[in-house]
Amino acid sequence: MFKKILVANRGEIALRIQRACRELGVKAVMVYSEADREAKYVKLAEEAVCIGPAPSAGSYLNMPAIISAAEVTDAEAIHPGYGFLSENADFAERVERSGFQFIGPTPESIRIMGDKVSAKQAMIKAGVPCVPGSEGELPDDPIQIKRLAKAIGYPVIIKAAGGGGGRGMRVVHTEAALINAVTMTKNEAGAAFGNTAVYLEKFLQNPRHIEIQILADKYKNAVYLGERDCSMQRRHQKIIEEAPAPGIPRKIIDRVGDRCVAACKKIGYRGAGTFEFLYEDGEFYFIEMNTRVQVEHPVTEMTTGIDIVKTQIMVAAGERLPFTQRQIQIRGHAIECRLNAEDSHKFIPSPGRITMWHPPGGPGVRVDSHVYTNYFVPPNYDSMIGKIIVHGDTREQALARMRTALGETVVEGISTNIALHRELMVDAKFMSGGTNIHYLEAWLANHAR
Ligand code: ADP
Repeated sequence: MFKKILVANRGEIALRIQRACRELGVKAVMVYSEADREAKYVKLAEEAVCIGPAPSAGSYLNMPAIISAAEVTDAEAIHPGYGFLSENADFAERVERSGFQFIGPTPESIRIMGDKVSAKQAMIKAGVPCVPGSEGELPDDPIQIKRLAKAIGYPVIIKAAGGGGGRGMRVVHTEAALINAVTMTKNEAGAAFGNTAVYLEKFLQNPRHIEIQILADKYKNAVYLGERDCSMQRRHQKIIEEAPAPGIPRKIIDRVGDRCVAACKKIGYRGAGTFEFLYEDGEFYFIEMNTRVQVEHPVTEMTTGIDIVKTQIMVAAGERLPFTQRQIQIRGHAIECRLNAEDSHKFIPSPGRITMWHPPGGPGVRVDSHVYTNYFVPPNYDSMIGKIIVHGDTREQALARMRTALGETVVEGISTNIALHRELMVDAKFMSGGTNIHYLEAWLANHAR
C-alpha cells in the first residue's frame, strides 16, 4: 500500500478521498487554491499545499503545480477525483512519467474512452449495445451528413466527440435545420473542448439514464456493482440518483453488466469506471464511459457495502480486487440528492457565506459535504456543496428517510435547491419510480414561479 497520496481535487470529493486514505492508514496531502484555504479537508489535513489562485486554470488544472506538490511532499500516487484533470489523458501520462502512480486507468484507456467516437467504436467491438448513429466522426460534405441523418431517422442528436458535462449536444428534428446545427455544434466544440469532431446519434424520445459501475484491477479481474438510475436531470446534469433502477429486471441488468465487464477485460481497463446507457423499451444503448469515480458513487456503496474509493486506491497500489462477482450482493435501496448552492427554481448560482449548516442524521443517512457553519462558498467552482444519501430496505423506506433527512437539513446564508428536492420527494410520479430523462424539465416547466 502507498504511504502517501496527493489528492488533486477540491470540495466534497477531496474530503471523501481524505476519509478513504485515513481508513487505509495512508497519509493524504491536500492541495488547495487561494479560494479554498478555509476548506474543511485543508484544516483537517496533516499536509496541505497551495497550488495557485482561485481560477481553476491556475490551480486545479495546473499540471506542473500539482506534480511539484507531489514531489515536494514525497507522495507516491495522485488521486484526481472527478472533474478537473480526472479524465485528462495527458495529465495521467505526466503523472506516471514523473514517477507517480495515477489512481485511475492507463492514459491509453482514458484517451480511447474520453473521445466519445472512439469509445463507441471500442464498445461496438466489445459487443456492448450502442445508440444507433454515424459510426464515426461526421464528414464535411453536407450531402453525406444529410444522408447519414436520414438513414438514422429524425430526430437526431449531434454530439461533440470531446464533449462532457452535458455540453456540446444539439437535437435536430428536420433536415432543414441539420447543416446549420452541425456547424454550430462544431464551432462550440472547438471553443469548449479544443476538438471540432462531432457525430450523430438517434435521439431517443423517452429513455432513462441507467449506468453500470465497474471496478477492475491490474490483473484483468473486473466486476460490476449493479446499476444506478440517473434520469432526474436538468440540462443533462444529474440532480437525483438512485440504486437499483426501479422496475428493471435483474436479469436484464446482469446481461448488460456482464458485457461491461467483458469490455473492461478486453481494453485492459483498471480502476473504477462507469458505463452510461440510455434505456428504452427494455433495451440498453451505450452513450459514454466515465473513467473516474463519479459524484453518485455513494448510492452504489450503500447498496453493495463496497467502498469504491478505497478499492480504487487498493487496485492502483497493485492489490487484487478483494471480491468476486458472486460475492457482490445488492441490498435495499439508496437515493442521493445533490445539494447545490443555487436558487431552487431559477437555478442562479448562490455563492457566499453559510451562516448556518445543520446536516441531517439518523439510521441509513449519509452526508458527504465539505461545508460547515461560517464556510464561504467560493464563486469560482461548481455549485455543488454536498450530497445527502439515504439507504432503506425498500425504495419506500429510502424515500421516507430522504424526506425526513431533507426536513432536518438547515442551510442559511445562501440559497440552495433543498426546496426542490423536498417537492420532488413527494411527487407522485417520482415516487412511483421509473421517470425518464425529460421528466424533471417538464416538471419544472409546470411548476414555474
Ligand atoms: P455528457 O458527457 O455531457 O454527460 P452524455 O453523452 O453522457 O453527455 O449525455 C448526457 C445526457 O444527454 C444523457 O444522460 C441524456 O439525458 C442526453 N442524451 C445523450 N445522448 C442522447 C440520445 N442519443 N438521445 C436522447 N438523449 C440523449
